[in-house]
Amino acid sequence: MSNQDYSVRQLLEMGACTNCQVCADVCPAVSASLDGQLSAIYRMKGLNQVLKGRGGFLSRLLGRKAPSSEEWKDFSNTVFRCTLCGNCEEVCPVGIHLKDLWLSLRQDMVHSGHYPKKINMIRDNLAEDRNVFAEDNEERAEWVDDMRDPPVDGYIREKADIVYFTGCTAAYFPVAQKIPIALVEILDRSNVDFTLLGKEEWCCGFPMLGAGLKDMFDTFKTHNLEALREKGAKEVLFACPSCYQMWREYYPDEFKISHATQFLTELIREKRVPLQELDLTVTYHDPCDLGRGAREFEAPREVLRSIPGLRFVELPQNRENCQCCGGGGNLEMVDAKLSAQIAKRKIEEILSTGADAIITSCQQCVRTMMTYVRRNKISLEVLDITQLVRRALRE
Ligand code: SF4
Ligand code: SF4
Repeated sequence: MSNQDYSVRQLLEMGACTNCQVCADVCPAVSASLDGQLSAIYRMKGLNQVLKGRGGFLSRLLGRKAPSSEEWKDFSNTVFRCTLCGNCEEVCPVGIHLKDLWLSLRQDMVHSGHYPKKINMIRDNLAEDRNVFAEDNEERAEWVDDMRDPPVDGYIREKADIVYFTGCTAAYFPVAQKIPIALVEILDRSNVDFTLLGKEEWCCGFPMLGAGLKDMFDTFKTHNLEALREKGAKEVLFACPSCYQMWREYYPDEFKISHATQFLTELIREKRVPLQELDLTVTYHDPCDLGRGAREFEAPREVLRSIPGLRFVELPQNRENCQCCGGGGNLEMVDAKLSAQIAKRKIEEILSTGADAIITSCQQCVRTMMTYVRRNKISLEVLDITQLVRRALRE
């Protein structure tokens, strides 16, 4: 065991925490569970203890003990029960890069052998099937067959300027598959030259980071880059903010990358998307990775404002203060109950606006909120922004 999973900056930042507790006040895991041990400040204290305990000869001479296996277990509980929403980092007055720290900490826990068993399942699924859900990767683009009028080539073209990278959730979950279907219908209508990668699309790597399995990432990155080069692509399009964020931060700067909200904004400005009136009141949920992560708050709002007749009300907590839906950080796999508790608070906030529908721009947010709404028979429509635009397309 060593501290090699942390950068020098991270080791320095740990000492900067002032114990102000502001991070605990905004944490969705703490608010939903009323368990202060899930907060950033608690995790920070635990991490400092761990680092001191394994500090080598001098620490042992000073009598600092390494954590017991029971203490490790408790600590692992707090480390993996976090949605990686980044709200703690947003408010931290001393500017500690907390989200990055949580990723390094998860990697440390995996290297140290203290992690939930579910992580082994995630690792095996990715190694065997190239996606996190143990689905057949050959079937990654099978959602195309569910379209009303699927093209003969299934959108797998030899060469294209733009590759639409669908992401694992949209590829395999029926609820989320409506998102790529809506997006490709809009792209067709706007005469965009694009292709899918089909079975050559492998997981973007985001679930690996969240599971502390960054060691696996290079193989996936190399494969995805090679698949894009084969297509002669200049640009990569994502409807998933986590895939988009992954490419922004961990892939080389070789292709132009766009999130669907940015791409749609451009198409609408160029008047390539004919829109008709929609009589609907909606509110908007900023996905953590697109909002706090990529700082993209305006593009989705511009898309909403461009739909005639649509009434848009903001959530009480919006933009950088938007509360997580509960679907991030692999939390659903580790603690499905906590994920649902966070979703409950999110849905209550949405209902307080009186909107007919919640619009977001993330397949995982759609899945998490839709699951809660359906299970609890709540009358609220949950839509990705691509589905909303598809609905507004003039026939
Ligand atoms: S990332 Fe989000 S869920 Fe995790 S500790 Fe920070 S505020 Fe809480
Ligand atoms: S907000 Fe930052 S400084 Fe304050 S307790 Fe949390 S981590 Fe420490």
